[in-house]
Amino acid sequence: MKFAKTALALSGVLGIAHCLPAISSIPSVRRVLFPRLLGVGKSGHIALTFDDGPDQKSTPLILDILDEYNWKATFFLLGIMVKREPELAVEILARGHEIGVHGFEHKNHLYRTLPAVISDVRQAYDVIARTTGATPTWFRPPYGVLSSSSFLAAQMNGLTPILWTTWGRDWEDSSTPESILSQLSGGLSAQEHRNPLFASPTLLLHDSDCTSEISMSKATIGSLTLLSDWAKNNSIQIGALRDHFK
Ligand SMILES: [Zn+2]
Repeated sequence: MKFAKTALALSGVLGIAHCLPAISSIPSVRRVLFPRLLGVGKSGHIALTFDDGPDQKSTPLILDILDEYNWKATFFLLGIMVKREPELAVEILARGHEIGVHGFEHKNHLYRTLPAVISDVRQAYDVIARTTGATPTWFRPPYGVLSSSSFLAAQMNGLTPILWTTWGRDWEDSSTPESILSQLSGGLSAQEHRNPLFASPTLLLHDSDCTSEISMSKATIGSLTLLSDWAKNNSIQIGALRDHFK
């Protein structure tokens, strides 16, 4: 009986998890239903996250500008990139940032088998932990598609799944610093309180263009300068996920 109840509860969780990609495409719905999963944190704080690195072409530039603003961020690393750039992965940590697991390969978990997803997340966790000496706690699946398989794989590695509240769409070839900030703020003026940047969001940007066809770092870096001006004017703090929920 106890097993049946547990199985039922688990299937409910997995059912929700399997639907998440569809649900999470509706911003207002997803924020109300899954605030924590979508990275809505404490008032007056924005969590800054970067996916797909480390990448020698762009991560050092991002690290320099984060130092300049005295911001810490969370980097969701790809195992395949950590193998290519192990010293850069170590440097991210050494400069005070937090690291999370983004997977080994950047493949949509909806189209992979359960054993393949479990193996991918385990492999990513192992290479990141072994290379950096850190114990990652966060997991963000590729494309933000949290399938039942990715949910289970995260659980098996003691990782907490987290997606994002708002993104900069910095992978688009037409992206500019202004367009990225506009995307992050939901296209609304900074004075409007419906602006997602006032809602303690987790922001998604990229420190690598390894999964897109354009070179994105310039626009992304420019958007950080605009974000810094905006945050100062509105007395908003910017930091890593580890400081976002306290
Ligand atoms: Zn990614």
